[in-house]
Amino acid sequence: MEIKFNVKARETLQHLTPYTPGKPIWELQAELGLPNIIKLASNENPLGPSPRALDAIAGSLHDLHRYPDASTSRLRQSLAAKLELSPDQFIISNGGDELITLLSETFLETGDEVIICTPSFSEYEFGAHLMGATVVQVPLGENFQFDIDAIVGAVNELTKLLCLCSPNNPTGTYLPRGILHHLLDVLPKHIVVLMDAAYSQFATASDYTDGLEFVRAGYPVIVLQTFSKLYGLAGIRVGYGAAPETIIRQIAKVKEPFNVNALAQAAAAAALYDTEHVRLTLEANNRGKLQLYQGFQELGLSCVESMSNFVLVDIGPDAKRVYETLLARGIIVRFGGIWNLPHYLRISVGTREENAALLKEIASIMNQAE
Ligand SMILES: *Cc1c(COP(=O)(O)O)cnc(C)c1O
Repeated sequence: MEIKFNVKARETLQHLTPYTPGKPIWELQAELGLPNIIKLASNENPLGPSPRALDAIAGSLHDLHRYPDASTSRLRQSLAAKLELSPDQFIISNGGDELITLLSETFLETGDEVIICTPSFSEYEFGAHLMGATVVQVPLGENFQFDIDAIVGAVNELTKLLCLCSPNNPTGTYLPRGILHHLLDVLPKHIVVLMDAAYSQFATASDYTDGLEFVRAGYPVIVLQTFSKLYGLAGIRVGYGAAPETIIRQIAKVKEPFNVNALAQAAAAAALYDTEHVRLTLEANNRGKLQLYQGFQELGLSCVESMSNFVLVDIGPDAKRVYETLLARGIIVRFGGIWNLPHYLRISVGTREENAALLKEIASIMNQAE
């Protein structure tokens, strides 16, 4: 006999839309039966994981019957030494994504307002809706620059959290230091500022800031970092937040005791000191970005100057067809439609060969249209 039941999920879950991840390589492989798939869709490190992290993981395997360090002390100490903060100013999370959820659970009540500068990373909205908070979208201005007047204009007594992503995903634009400083000074002090600096190490502008200087100065700022991008550890899930200790202590209350697994803790601590892998990654990214800029220019396509490891390129009304044809030919990129940018593709910087293959296919697809 069928059992009928009527259990109701929380009202606010109706507002949650599932995250759209980049299509995994294995999935496209299975669909197309192609052996060689190129994935330039999730801003992963094209050189692979930090070799030092791999050694650390291998060295930790025999201890997997033990629970991980609930206080992640080794990693927090390494971060504190490297970033000139105290170990108590860090919270380690199961990827940067988890930090966004923890932050939302810590600070957001039903009806609170969360300001998001759109288009941006979708997880801020997820966290807000999860807690029944209201999302207030402030669109980026001309050339996808942050619109400070509009941000300040959106603030009111219900505002609880301001999400700033710099360099911003998916545009690659950033918030200059002087402007952030001004913003932090004029904001009412009941607002927590999330400074998502997931791509900070790729930024080259001299007036870029990852926000840590404002944490050191004591502003109510939490800087998000991840080991998924620069360090090539997206698969093992580790990131962190850096903030004034009072903020960290509140967030620590909502986190599960063993949120970061033992292999992730070991890998992250080792990757921090893998200067060679970081150097090679940044070199490859700078070279690859120039290769893409030049290739797009030759194709008559304009793109947004990126402080990150991806490029947002304006393909025009044909962008969706180009995206789909690339997919059919085994190249995965991101279609801008998910951010309401239907003329754009977001393309992660790959290896020299991957970038060349991508440019060649885009050229061939564009020729076919004419
Ligand atoms: C990738 C990314 C993160 C964090 O990713 P995790 O893999 O969860 O660490 C956070 N913010 C932005 C903008 C990102 O692109």
